[in-house]
Amino acid sequence: MKFEITTLDPGSAARAGRIETGHGAVETPVFLPVATRGSIRCLVSEELEELGYRMLLANAYHLALRPGTEVVAAAGGLHRFMNWPRPILTDSGGFQIFSLAEARVEEAGVVFRSVYDGRRHRLSPEEAVRIQEELGADIIMTLDQPVSHPADRETAAEAVRRTTRWAKRCQAGRQRPEASALFGIVQGSVYPELRAESAAALVELDFPGYALGGFCLGEPLELMNEVVAAVTGRLPAEKPRYLMGIGTPREIISAVAAGVDIFDCAMPTHIARNGAALTAAGRLTIRNGRYRNDHGPLDPACGCRVCRRYSRAYLRHLFNTRELTAFNLLTYHNLHFMKGLMDGLRAAIEAGRLESFRKSFVDGAAAGL
Ligand SMILES: [Zn+2]
Repeated sequence: MKFEITTLDPGSAARAGRIETGHGAVETPVFLPVATRGSIRCLVSEELEELGYRMLLANAYHLALRPGTEVVAAAGGLHRFMNWPRPILTDSGGFQIFSLAEARVEEAGVVFRSVYDGRRHRLSPEEAVRIQEELGADIIMTLDQPVSHPADRETAAEAVRRTTRWAKRCQAGRQRPEASALFGIVQGSVYPELRAESAAALVELDFPGYALGGFCLGEPLELMNEVVAAVTGRLPAEKPRYLMGIGTPREIISAVAAGVDIFDCAMPTHIARNGAALTAAGRLTIRNGRYRNDHGPLDPACGCRVCRRYSRAYLRHLFNTRELTAFNLLTYHNLHFMKGLMDGLRAAIEAGRLESFRKSFVDGAAAGL
């Protein structure tokens, strides 16, 4: 993987850049749609390509449980298995595992029960790397230990130190280092000194990219912004930075200004399945009775094919009669909205006017998104 910064925003820490992988290039800042089990729910790979996406996120832990890495490897890797020829980033699954009630952390790894059949598993740092290498992702993640919010300082400090030890073991466990880039994950909850310690220890290990983990666990947005900005300042400028599991448009805009390059979030696809659309006028709930006889487009400001071809009344009808096509159409529109946001952010950085982009967003009708 190669990362090149093409433009620096004069008024903030934002940058526009380009990541090159064995499966093609990706322009940053970039938003990755979430294909946890090897599929963007309710969308086929061709639609994601049509929307202009160039990289997606899959979850190694879910794919290792079902269908099993041996099945994906036999297909020729995850790209072929899911018919997605472009770059893939996999998360180790640590975050999902640690959110299970029964997960128990040991120095050797994390012990948990499968969400599918209740069987007991252990995921070690070495195993997390082996699984991701077998899947064949372009960017892979170390196994880290997130802590929930709020966490006391001692718990957070312990998790930081274990995350560093595990990061070293992930590096040492690599079998095919040439095939993918392994990113280290900065932890430390909301404690600036722990975040600094975590960043310093991982920078020492010289990863090709760095992720910021353990956010979006209930801390207020202002606090997250503060911690993110403090961490990015401690990471090497020439390497990509990935804010895991974030976020909403306003979270993304402020993190881009703090120098973050990569984002992922299930929100746009998740809310689509509940009948909510991201629009230039804010969030729209299509089930609302006021749209019963509204034959205008979902978002008049949107140029996606859903907004060009289908009406609010029709979409509402599909939702209210539980027609599955509704999920596809709203998911498509929401991902188009997110792609437009990222394109707008990138263009603003290239034009040196990120601050005016941010200001017009927070002053606009979509500020609450
Ligand atoms: Zn649209």
